Amino acid sequence: MRRINGGADVESVLLAVAEGVAQAVGFEVAAISYLTRDLHFQVAAVAGSAEARELLLGARVPLSAMESELELAEQWGSLLFIPAERLNGEVLGWIPPEVVPDGDSEPDPDRWRPEDTLRSPLRSPAGELLGLLSVDLPVDGKRPDQARRELLEMYADLAGVALHNARRATELEEQVRLATAVESLHGRAARSLDVQQIIQGTVGEIARTLSADHVWLRAFGDGDSTTGHGARWPNDSAQPASPLLMEAVSRAARNAWATGDVALARLDEDGVVGAAENEPVSLTDRALFPAGPSLASGERIPVAGGAAGWVPRPSTRQDPADPEHRLMADYLRPLGAGTILLAPVGTGPDCLGYLAAVRAAGSGDFSPHEVQAAGQIARNLGQAILNARLLERERILVGQLESLDHYKSDLISTVSHELRTPLTSIAGHLELIEDDPRSATPASFSVIFRNLERVMTLIDDLLTLKKLTDANSPAPTSTVVDLHQAALDAVAAFRPPAEEQGVDLTVVPHGGPLLISGDRDELERVALNLVGNAVKYTRTGGSVTVSTERTDRFVRLVVKDTGMGISKPDQEELFTEFFRTTNPDALALPGTGLGLSIVRRILQRHGGSIRLESELGEGSTFTVRLPLSRTTPR
Ligand code: ADP
Repeated sequence: MRRINGGADVESVLLAVAEGVAQAVGFEVAAISYLTRDLHFQVAAVAGSAEARELLLGARVPLSAMESELELAEQWGSLLFIPAERLNGEVLGWIPPEVVPDGDSEPDPDRWRPEDTLRSPLRSPAGELLGLLSVDLPVDGKRPDQARRELLEMYADLAGVALHNARRATELEEQVRLATAVESLHGRAARSLDVQQIIQGTVGEIARTLSADHVWLRAFGDGDSTTGHGARWPNDSAQPASPLLMEAVSRAARNAWATGDVALARLDEDGVVGAAENEPVSLTDRALFPAGPSLASGERIPVAGGAAGWVPRPSTRQDPADPEHRLMADYLRPLGAGTILLAPVGTGPDCLGYLAAVRAAGSGDFSPHEVQAAGQIARNLGQAILNARLLERERILVGQLESLDHYKSDLISTVSHELRTPLTSIAGHLELIEDDPRSATPASFSVIFRNLERVMTLIDDLLTLKKLTDANSPAPTSTVVDLHQAALDAVAAFRPPAEEQGVDLTVVPHGGPLLISGDRDELERVALNLVGNAVKYTRTGGSVTVSTERTDRFVRLVVKDTGMGISKPDQEELFTEFFRTTNPDALALPGTGLGLSIVRRILQRHGGSIRLESELGEGSTFTVRLPLSRTTPR
């Protein structure tokens, strides 16, 4: 009924009615109040003296406070009359007439007593209770007779119609305002293609639209409910919610999405009271001020516990001892929360987040139109968030495709270069031999074979890499592999070049097998690549030590050398494809830059990892860790 406060037209109509009552029916004071959304009668028009106006205008009385008064009322048609003699001192602090002698020992039954109360409920044509017309101080000092009562009833009907029209107009105005706000929020959310921006950019306007004191907006992330994007309004209004609370709210939002509801709850002293009522209970549905003799017989009027918008269903009342509801209540109480609204943000089958709005206690409940608008806003946000997510995914995909494209062209140029160098050398030697068969010396053949081997190694490495990176390639075959044996084999394979280079290559003995599950060829390849590198990058007089060990759950292969070592910047990139050192001494040695990236990918496929400790010029230690096979004896 906001417009009643500000709308001069309605107020002047009500004032005219009040003045009409005062003059035509003959009362010094007539006041019209309307029923607010939070169930208070608020005085909107007063006819009477300046003092009466001053005293009454804007006064608010809770509907529930009138209960005891109305129990005593006599029904005069649609009027409710509470004769002073029915009141006791406790109800209104009334002083019995015998204490205040009025000089008339035989009291006139028709005389108006100062404590007499005459009111008329103001109703819509459909019977909804909208307000109250109260009169006091009859000019003739008498309780009204039948003719004046009828006149009063007629004015009450008029005031009822005026209030009804005002309410309709206010409702219509509210609907238009909400629809415009929903539309504007929709436009704002749809214009942005960034989830955080959508949330941040709408939270304040949502709070204003719903006349909420606090609003939280959240778009779930891919992980648990505490990830993703969130915003709240006012920004510094509350402590950050605990992950447990966010989890609970997220679950409630998902449930609400599944049932297509906007959840409403109220905070009372015991905790949060839930209410799944989506269909608000209107005043007509409530047996307020039942007509007929029941009032006169003193039946209680059921007004307690309800609000004009909705009422909590007893069955949905949450257990205050429930830790989740304790958590919610403890968080909301310091904010002075009264009513809580939770609208799931979602689209299609997916709940993507939530919109939670809180109105402070005493500010009234969310109206049915506001609840509806919140639901619509949340659905629109869901669509906007989905669009933003799709675009984000598209961007990532495009980025991935672009880097794949770069990778491919890098690969082609690197491979061409790596092939061209040895092939050019082979072609050169063959041309020499063709020109002069006498140049076919063992040294010349050795160069040709060395270069052929380089080409073969490169092709071999490329095929291995393809197998490891191909999404369609089968998962590693799982056999039980003895890592210690793989180390021994790798050492045996590199013994000849180690001896040739004058590098001391040793393997630390291990008492028994170290079993891991995985692809034998791939795991042997790990040992071969690491031992091969260690030998290759260690100068004459240096040493390479290979050892294996186990812990409770893992086995380790440690390859330690006293070779050239690796600079810190090089260490960063060591495991990427085609990376070769920047150290000129190491670069002079043949290599493809694929060995370590193959090692990394094989370990990834086997749930393992690799660590490197190295100092340039001092040597390197590569430590591989792999999960122990369950068949290994403890
Ligand atoms: P490459 O075929 O060049 O050996 P890798 O992928 O096996 O390719 O190794 C990448 C680079 O890492 C090598 O070029 C080398 O500079 C460096 N590297 C690898 N192992 C060692 C080591 N044990 N000592 C020094 N440098 C090493």
